[in-house]
Amino acid sequence: MGFLKKLLGRKEAYEPGKRVRVCVECGMPVEEHKEWCAIYREQQRRDEAASSA
Ligand SMILES: [Zn+2]
Repeated sequence: MGFLKKLLGRKEAYEPGKRVRVCVECGMPVEEHKEWCAIYREQQRRDEAASSA
C-alpha cells in the first residue's frame, strides 16, 4: 500500500489546485468509494437508470 500512498501524494503535489473530493459517507476520495458506501451505490443506481433510459 506504500506505493499507492506515494502515487496519490505525488498526484496531489502535481495538481495543487485540484483538491481531491472526499466522500462524506465512506471517507474515501470520490473515485475510490468503498463497496458498502451508500453514496457510491446511489451513484451506481443512477448510472444504471441513465444507461437503460
Ligand atoms: Zn463513498
